[in-house]
Amino acid sequence: MRNLKLIHKVFIGLVLGIIVGALLYPMKEQPFVSKYIIGFLFELLGQGFLRLVKMIIVPLVFASLVTGTAAMNDVKKLGRIGIKTLLFFMVTTALGIMAAIAGANILKPGMGVVLENVQQSKFVAKEADSFVKVLLNIIPTNPFDALVKGEMLQVIFFAIMTGVVITLLGDKAKKLQGLFEEANELMLKMVSIIMELAPYGIFGLIGKTFITLGWAAMKPLASFIIVTYILLVFHGLVVYQILLRIYAKENPIVFLKKILAPMTLAFSTSSSAACIPLALKTLKEEFNVEDKISSFTIPLGTTINMDGTAIMQGVATVFIAQLYSIHLTTNDYFMVVLTAVLASIGTAGVPGVGTIMLSMVLAQVGLPLEGIGLILAVDRIVDMGRTTVNVIGNLVCSVVIDRIEKRTEAKERAAQK
Ligand code: ASP
Repeated sequence: MRNLKLIHKVFIGLVLGIIVGALLYPMKEQPFVSKYIIGFLFELLGQGFLRLVKMIIVPLVFASLVTGTAAMNDVKKLGRIGIKTLLFFMVTTALGIMAAIAGANILKPGMGVVLENVQQSKFVAKEADSFVKVLLNIIPTNPFDALVKGEMLQVIFFAIMTGVVITLLGDKAKKLQGLFEEANELMLKMVSIIMELAPYGIFGLIGKTFITLGWAAMKPLASFIIVTYILLVFHGLVVYQILLRIYAKENPIVFLKKILAPMTLAFSTSSSAACIPLALKTLKEEFNVEDKISSFTIPLGTTINMDGTAIMQGVATVFIAQLYSIHLTTNDYFMVVLTAVLASIGTAGVPGVGTIMLSMVLAQVGLPLEGIGLILAVDRIVDMGRTTVNVIGNLVCSVVIDRIEKRTEAKERAAQK
């Protein structure tokens, strides 16, 4: 076990978790299994690891973003990177949801599903924030409060301002800049140490998911799960890889092999936020992506770029419309695309939020919100796939922006000569 690479160990953890979880599923009610295997072993390994990962997210994002921005030495460059990143996020999300709507209309997951067979979970819709409020919320009124609560957009905003002002101060803030650089190194080292525990954590998380997953609840919704997965795989393994090939000139197969560890982590945690540390580490070590790019694209993408979530929302909308035999017009679909892109910005990178945000999309086109209660029982299994696509998206975007930026810088240098 010692000589195996981390990625292989992570994969073994995943497969063992699935096997042990599925094998023990029939015995999940037995006191020994429920108390010691689910309640102690899986819980301790899974949650212990997850808490360690969460522990480093905020300090890591803050230190790496301040360091990255301060190292840029150029506010204009920051703007250039920012615009390209946002454009990449929005366009890919829109592409994902359009493909999801088209795919779901062709594959018709709702046809033949008997409504009475589907387990109805209780769902209470939450009032969505207005667009102005979403925008204003990016500015923290108290940066320490933002750090404490882990409000990612606010942390990003304050970190960028700090980095920019460190640049403006020049020599006056050299020591502070060095301090942030050292803090960044410290956090990255911590990531490496914590990731040694990833195989055990993933075993616990996946084991618990598979032992508690309601197979009976999944059966009537199999068509919804399968269609969503087909579209997720298409987006993550085809669309994104084509974009990677065109814009970053990277080999998709090599790329996918190198990101297997963050993909497995995303799949087993259903939380793209929990993947931030490993994503930053992978981009640096495997792809030589500059800190200034990844420390910006990864936390930002984790908060606002959710193609997997948008794809699920597209399929779910069509599925619910088919279940209730409600006809959606082209105009309705246009609204679905628009709302899902906006909803993905407001979705936090933690389990289950994408489904809560689905109420925004359904309400927009007048579909019954009880529809969400119908898919809630299988949400975890879908969440695992969509989170993986969310994380693939952030990684692809980081490599693409890095390579584009490197080409632009090379051109600029050539022009100066
Ligand atoms: N679990 C997803 C993520 O962390 C968000 C969601 O769709 O629920 O990316």
